[in-house]
Amino acid sequence: MNDKTAPTLEEISSCVNGYDPNALPVAQAREFIARLVPRVDGVEMLALRSALGRVLARDIVSDIDVPAHDNSAMDGYALCGIDLAQGHDTILQVVGSGLAGNGFQGNVAPGQCVRIMTGATMPAGLDTVVPQEFVKLDGDRVTIPAGAVKPGENRRLAGEDLARGDVALAAGRVLRPADLGMLASLGRAEVPVWRRLRVAFFSTGNELRSIGETLDAGCVYDSNRYTLWGMLQRLGVEILDMGVVGDDPQALEAAFRDAAANADVVITSGGVSVGEADYTKTIMARLGDVLFWRIAMRPGRPMAIGRIETGGRSAILFGLPGNPVAVMVTFYALVRDALLAMSGAQPAPLPMLRAASAGAIRKKPGRTEYQRGIVTPAPGGGWEVRITGSQGSGILRSMSQANGLVVLGHEQGNVAAGDLVDVLPFDGLI
Ligand code: AMP
Ligand code: MG
Repeated sequence: MNDKTAPTLEEISSCVNGYDPNALPVAQAREFIARLVPRVDGVEMLALRSALGRVLARDIVSDIDVPAHDNSAMDGYALCGIDLAQGHDTILQVVGSGLAGNGFQGNVAPGQCVRIMTGATMPAGLDTVVPQEFVKLDGDRVTIPAGAVKPGENRRLAGEDLARGDVALAAGRVLRPADLGMLASLGRAEVPVWRRLRVAFFSTGNELRSIGETLDAGCVYDSNRYTLWGMLQRLGVEILDMGVVGDDPQALEAAFRDAAANADVVITSGGVSVGEADYTKTIMARLGDVLFWRIAMRPGRPMAIGRIETGGRSAILFGLPGNPVAVMVTFYALVRDALLAMSGAQPAPLPMLRAASAGAIRKKPGRTEYQRGIVTPAPGGGWEVRITGSQGSGILRSMSQANGLVVLGHEQGNVAAGDLVDVLPFDGLI
C-alpha cells in the first residue's frame, strides 16, 4: 500500500494513552494497531452471489419502495375498515379476487369485499384484511364475527421494508446472506465491494520442517502456517503462503522484500521473543519501521509491529510469536480486527457469552488471559465453561479441543468456581 500521509510509529504511540511497549495492555495494543493500519483502495463490482462475505464499498440507497404497493399479509378478504360493524357481525358481498402478482383491478363499493391472497396488491380503497379462518362463507356472502379484525390490520404498507431514498446497507458492511436478499429485493444485480486485502505469511525458525520433509532430531513440523491459513481463509482475504524461511539473513531479507512487494500485510511467526538469537528481528528492523512489543497478555507476549518498506511500497507487519497457541490467540486478539479494518469493514465488537466457570481459575491482575474452554449449556439455563487441560502456549491440542476462548480481562483476579466469565465462542468468530 502507498500511504504517504501515514503517521510514524512514534506519532501513533504518542496518541495512545498509557503506551508502554514493555508492558502493553491489550486495549492499548489494539488502539495502536487501529491507528496504524490503512484501508485498501480499489473498488470492484461483483455479481450478488460473488459478493457474499465481501465488504461493501459504498452506501446502497434504495431507488424503489419495498414492497412497491400496499399488499395483503394474509389469505382472506380485503375490505374497507369503515364497513366493519360495531358489536355485531358484518356481512359483506364478495365481488372478485386478487392474487399475488395479479391483483383485483375493479372498483369496490361500500358493503363489498374482495377475496385476497398473501402478497396480492390491496384493491383501491381497501385497507384491511380479515383472515379466511375467521369468517363464514355462504355463496358470495362473507360473515365476519364482531371483533375478528380491526381497521388497517393484516395489510403491509408500501415501503415498510425499505422506502425509496433509504440507505439499505451502509458502506463497510461485510455482506451476509440476508444482505444478498435485501439487494436482490432492490433489483440490484451487482454491488461495489473493496478489493480483497492481500496477506503474505511465512514461518521462521531453523527447527521447522514442512509436511513431507523428514523430521530431523530436534525439529518440529510447521503447524503455524496451517492455523494462519485457516484463520485468514475465514476472513476472506487473499493469501500468499511463502513457506518456511530459515534463520539466514539473506533468505529472510529476500522473503520480507518479496512479501512487502506483493502484499498489503506481512505476517510472520517465530523469532520475535526477547533474547531470541536469530536474525528475524534484525532484518525486520532494518527493512522498515518496526517496534518490538511485550504485551500484557497470556499467551502471546512478544510481537513485532510496524511497516516493512520495499521499492517505494509499504506493507503492514505483524510479527507474531512462534508458539502455536500464542499465534492463534494473538491473531484473534490483535490481528483479526485490524485485517477487517484494512479490508474496509466497519468495526463491530464480537458477541461474547457470559458463562459460569466450572472450576476455579488462577489469574493475576495486570494482563489479559485467553484460556481455552469448552462451553456447554448449563443444566439450570445459561452456559457453563470448562478449561481444556494444560494451558501451555505450545499445546495446540488445547485450542483444537476448545470451542471458545475464556477472556479474563486486564484487571481481573482469581476466578472462583461458579463465577461468570466472558467467553468468545469460536463459531461465528470468522
Ligand atoms: P520462537 O517464538 O521462535 O522462540 O518459537 C517459540 C516456540 O514455538 C518454539 O518451541 C518453536 O519451535 C515453536 N514454533 C515456532 N514456529 C513454529 C511453527 N511455525 N510451527 C510450530 N511450532 C513453531
Ligand atoms: Mg525461533
